Amino acid sequence: MTGFFCAGNWKMNKTPEQAAQFVRQLKESATAEEQKHLVLLPTALIAYEVAQGLKGSGVAWGGQNCYFENSGAFTGESSPSLMKEMGAKFCLVGHSERRQIFAEPDDMLAKKTAALQNLGMIPIVCVGETQDDRRWNRTQEVIVRQTRLALASADPSKPIWLAYEPVWAIGTGQVATPEQVEEAHGILRKALKEWSAMTSDRIPILYGGSVKAENSASLAALNNVNGFLIGGASLAVDDLLKIYRNSQTVRS
Ligand code: PEP
Repeated sequence: MTGFFCAGNWKMNKTPEQAAQFVRQLKESATAEEQKHLVLLPTALIAYEVAQGLKGSGVAWGGQNCYFENSGAFTGESSPSLMKEMGAKFCLVGHSERRQIFAEPDDMLAKKTAALQNLGMIPIVCVGETQDDRRWNRTQEVIVRQTRLALASADPSKPIWLAYEPVWAIGTGQVATPEQVEEAHGILRKALKEWSAMTSDRIPILYGGSVKAENSASLAALNNVNGFLIGGASLAVDDLLKIYRNSQTVRS
């Protein structure tokens, strides 16, 4: 997969009917080429509708979370192998809402990352600093540590994506400045090089945090920004496509 990607994190939104309707509209509106650069991340209970609806299209989909075991006594968890069997190509790992609300620790995220890679799926590992981290100049330390720990058992020869999502920019409307984004993505690219000099340049680094149609072109133009992870603005087909299309105006 090459190019610029937009992944829509629907979080705990949409009914099965709304998901099916979204997918129908997306397939009608996005060209075949655009479809190859879009990923939908529905909540598990509507994954079936998304998987069925996307069959035969170029749009990929993935989970928002999974466990690192494929089956067993893990009440409430989602199996990565089942997700794969349903057609998922991706799964988020360590979204800040998982880290903060559900207290997911780094060692668990490393196991999830490795488990997904072992199944041939692509983990989208999310890292990002809090407002306090930034205020106290800890951004670099935090995002490099989160990256190293999440990748501790990962295989550099297998596909993996990274998403830089400053916690203070998620769902707040407060987007990071181009300077902040470029600096953080540069730091992450360097950390990836230290992890795997051979493959680091091929690992997409997405930016996430209040991406909208209005700011997508200026963010997409930055060095080391290879795509977006989009929450709120991915819930409507028109918004998602505008973001993708605006990003293309500065990249082609
Ligand atoms: C997210 O959920 O990953 C996200 C970036 O949300 P939003 O675009 O709404 O800030």
